[in-house]
Amino acid sequence: MTDHRLLDIQRLDTEAEQLRHRHATLPEREQRVAALEEQKRLEAEIARLGATRVEVASGLKRLENEALIFAAKADEDDKRLYSGDVGMKELEPLQAEIAGLRDRQAELEDQALEAMEKAESLSDAQSAAEAALEAIGISITTIEAELAASEDEVDGLLAAALAARVEAAAEVSEADLAEYERLRPGLGSATVVSFDGRNCVGCPSTMPAMELDRMKHSESGSVLSCSECTRIVIT
Ligand SMILES: [Zn+2]
Repeated sequence: MTDHRLLDIQRLDTEAEQLRHRHATLPEREQRVAALEEQKRLEAEIARLGATRVEVASGLKRLENEALIFAAKADEDDKRLYSGDVGMKELEPLQAEIAGLRDRQAELEDQALEAMEKAESLSDAQSAAEAALEAIGISITTIEAELAASEDEVDGLLAAALAARVEAAAEVSEADLAEYERLRPGLGSATVVSFDGRNCVGCPSTMPAMELDRMKHSESGSVLSCSECTRIVIT
């Protein structure tokens, strides 16, 4: 079996790439973004509900005050009506006026009742949104702790891979390492391949006889360049 430190370096570089990708795409990262968006949405909803509640409450007060004014006026007219000081001619118009005032009072009281119901449902909605906001806050804390733990885990694995790579690189010639690093961006995780006795593992087609002969007759563990695919071949 082919065994060469260049293969270890290649494996460790691939592992480091995967760990960096894992670090950047941890599922907790997306969960955190979604939770923060939900938090923002709830805060805006609570602010909007609060403003609407203030509006409804001041409308309610206005309706109640207005209803009181009509009621007071109707009471006053009632008093006059039963005081005995009203002449026959005045009687009917006064009764009509009282009826009109009472109608208006009842109308305002109905509207006030509606406003009260609306205030109650707004209050319920605000309580629900506040509870949801509290829950999302707790959830964000949990997600952030999980994210930090996952990052720590990946960082630890990455540090180990990088340290092992330094060790392996110290055992490879500078020229071989430089050649590997030159080819790696284009050939990726299959920059260094093994020779299986008949072919360069990286080549899709059969190796030309001369090239095969060259590889076969090289010392085991030699670092060669495949003339077909440019990969580094370990014999
Ligand atoms: Zn090849």
